[in-house]
This record gives sequence, C-alpha cells and structure tokens, in this order.
Amino acid sequence: MFPDFDYSARLGRLRSLMGERGIDVALLSVGADLPYFTGYEAMPLERLTMLAVPRETDAILVVPRLEAPRVVGRGDAFSTTVWGETEDPVTIVAGIIGKPRRVAVADPTWSVFLLGLQAALPGADFSSATPHTRELRMRKEPDEIKWLRDAAEATDRVVDRLGEIQFSGRPERAVAADIAAMTVAEGHDLSTFTILASGPNSASPHHETGERTVVGGDSIVLDFGGRSHGYHSDTTRTLHVGVPPPRFGAAFDVLAEAQSAGRAAVRPGVAARDVDRAARAVIADAGYGDYFIHRTGHGIGLEGHEHPYIVEGNELPLETGMTFSIEPGIYLPGEFGMRIEDIVAVAANGIDELNRSDRGLRIVE
Ligand code: ZN
Ligand code: ZN
Ligand code: ZN
Repeated sequence: MFPDFDYSARLGRLRSLMGERGIDVALLSVGADLPYFTGYEAMPLERLTMLAVPRETDAILVVPRLEAPRVVGRGDAFSTTVWGETEDPVTIVAGIIGKPRRVAVADPTWSVFLLGLQAALPGADFSSATPHTRELRMRKEPDEIKWLRDAAEATDRVVDRLGEIQFSGRPERAVAADIAAMTVAEGHDLSTFTILASGPNSASPHHETGERTVVGGDSIVLDFGGRSHGYHSDTTRTLHVGVPPPRFGAAFDVLAEAQSAGRAAVRPGVAARDVDRAARAVIADAGYGDYFIHRTGHGIGLEGHEHPYIVEGNELPLETGMTFSIEPGIYLPGEFGMRIEDIVAVAANGIDELNRSDRGLRIVE
C-alpha cells in the first residue's frame, strides 16, 4: 500500500537531528510517523506498536504478534520484536532501549503507554518527538510529490465529471455518495471525506453532509478527497444550481482572485503567513474580511492535515518540496458560502500546482 521509499535514509536523517539535539531515543507509535519511517501503518488499537529509534543503534519495531505478518519482509531499515498476548509491551520497549537520559515520544502516542514508559524509566527526561519528525515529513521527497500529484489528479478527474451528477431534488447525502464513489473510481484506494454543503448549509465550512434536499438556487460547497498509496488529496469547488444572483457572482469573483493571489505568493523563502495574507487581503479589501473565518491552508501528505499551516503568525519560510492547500472561503451566515481549494507544492521557481481542474464557478442541475 505504501510505496517503497528509502526508509534507512529517513531513519538516518532522524538520527542526525537527534544527535544535534541531544536525544537518546525516539519512540514513535500510531499516526503517520510510523509509515513514514517504516512503510507500515499500525492500527490504532489498545495493543502497543512502537518503533524505537536509538541514536546510535538500529531501529526496532515492537509489534503485537497478530500484526507481525504485515511487518515481516520489510527490508533491513529496522528489526522487529514481536510480543505475545500475555506479555507487557511497555516492559519490552523499556528493556530494548536500556537507560536513556533523553527520550522523545511522538504526540499521537496513547497516554496509557506514555505513562507506563515514564513509570518504567523514572530517571529519563521526556519530550515530544513530533517537532523533529515534522521537520523531515514537511519537506517532501520528489517521489512523495509524485504520489500527491497522482491523488490530486484523481480528484481533478472527478471535478471534470461533475456534469454527470444530478444535484437538485436529491439529499446532500446521496449526491455525496456518488462523488465518494467517483473519488475511488478515478484512482484512490479510499474516499476519506466528502463535504457537500448546499444552500444556507454552505455557509458552514465543515458542514456535516445530511438529509437536506438540494434545490434550484442553491450554492454548493463541495470539498472532498481520498487516499492513494498512503498520500491524501483534498479539493474544493463551488457550484451553483442554476444561474446565481449577481450578489453571489460578485463575491465569487473576489474569492477566485483571492485564491489566485494565494497561489501567486508561493515561492521558496516566503513566510507561510504571507501566503495567508496575500489571499486574505483581496477578500478584506472587497469588504468580506469578516466572512473569511479560517486559515488559508494546511500541509498535506501522509496526513490530510499536517504542517506547514498557512496561517497568520506562522513565520516558517517555505521551502522547495513543501506541500499544502490554498483554500480561502467566504461565508455569509444564513445565505451562502463558497470556497476554492487546491493542493500545491513549493518549487524552485515558485509553485507546482498539483490540482489543475477548472476552478471557476460551475453551474449544475
Ligand atoms: Zn477543512
Ligand atoms: Zn478540503
Ligand atoms: Zn483542506
């Protein structure tokens, strides 16, 4: 399911960060760090799966016996220790890592395991491993961008096919199911979410798609995505059932200009917050500033939302290989909402647009 990356090289880069920062061992459990460093994704179960990465010696993946068949034969980047149902995996991890002074534990690790490790290693200093793994994961390798492009192109094909779908007269939920099926048919392993927000519901950015029947005159915010080879897609297009009133069209023109200003701001060295500011300024100047109520974007990769966040206050300079969404929106409560979202990568000469389907307002039936 995950492509074959150079996991030894990734672990090597983590070890050199650990060396610079004086960390003796990193412990990674559920979440996206594990597949990033091993190609193996743990089910978020009560049974502990943990990759122990000592700074000086080989990484060891501690897995429950019933998961072992999925791990065996994954190359030589790490070795595997299997634990049985009557054993205590925390004791096993503590035994493997010896007596480290500084232990870094990834954020998504369940507290029950962290508490156990803290009790088992009373002399150790615990901190978060996530700032270190984030630095590596945020800068995509060319092959990761290839898989993200693959997923983005599959959503573009869905956008191209929206004319095949009947919107009006059907509940949001039924239309969303058609789009989720297309998301898989066009080249994802699974559909991860479909937000279909119609009429006044479209003014709620993360509307829970429901039973409301789509009718003529509705605006529709369609935000959907899936996962392919472990990598996520996430695209939003704004539709209108029938020709929109001038008030809607005027707001949409502002939104389209804002989204394009966001894309135009992307290049290496620019602070993440400046991409947010570029998009937001267009919306604010047109008088809709109070109606753009979320950040401009989020990173994307093995997780649907990850660093870097394109938000005011984030001074992180963009670097080649960073991938994120640009998704400004305008939401007039009780009336309508609209959003345009594309996934982009930072390229040496500016921007590499992974989504390329038509961003214009689409009139549907
Ligand atoms: Zn969102
Ligand atoms: Zn989205
Ligand atoms: Zn998004």
